[in-house]
Amino acid sequence: MIPNTDKEMSTKKVYILEDEKDIAELVSINLQKAGFKTKEFLRADRFFNALKEEIPDLLILDLMLPDMDGLEVCKLLRKSEKYSQLPIIMLTAKAEELDKIIGLELGADDYVTKPFSPRELVARVKAVIRRENIEPQTQKFRVNDNFEIDFQKYEIRINGEKAELTTTEFKILKLLVSKKGWVFSRNQILDYIDSNDKGILDRTVDVHIKNLREKLKDSGKLIKNVRGIGYKFDV
Ligand code: CA
Repeated sequence: MIPNTDKEMSTKKVYILEDEKDIAELVSINLQKAGFKTKEFLRADRFFNALKEEIPDLLILDLMLPDMDGLEVCKLLRKSEKYSQLPIIMLTAKAEELDKIIGLELGADDYVTKPFSPRELVARVKAVIRRENIEPQTQKFRVNDNFEIDFQKYEIRINGEKAELTTTEFKILKLLVSKKGWVFSRNQILDYIDSNDKGILDRTVDVHIKNLREKLKDSGKLIKNVRGIGYKFDV
């Protein structure tokens, strides 16, 4: 199966809490075009009511709302046991506000300053949701009797012995393992390892994979090449 980003996102629901109707609609339309389901809220109280019914996959949160400060909304969500994990992207009008958010470390997952490009916002939404999905539920993952991954310690054990991976190799492994059987393109892998090197080539991924496979010994064959597309992890 070829992974399709839009298909992956199409089951995802994004709530937009923004009192400027034009902006809320602009965001909503663009997210829908990218395959998301959306719901707009012009007031915080209505958003909190809706939250009791259904928790979305992400919240786009404006800072200045008529009935509540966006920072306060963020704080309430983070403090709550039920909603603390809800990914939040904050919309801010001014750079000073951005400073304020970062300074307060309220736990927003990302920030976008107005005026923003809808395309960039959609890209940020996808990136945050993808990141959430990749976080493994458990710290330790036993692939088979001879292969164990400790996501917390960034360690793997092969035949009971610790194998040394580079950070990039570990990240690639984590990505592939996060969705067993899912094919990741070289570009998706490059995106995830977040290489700042603009001159980086697809070939780089192949080299990392080759090294990773060697270090995994017998379990290296679990990383499979899908011709013309990329790589997957399959047991
Ligand atoms: Ca506003």
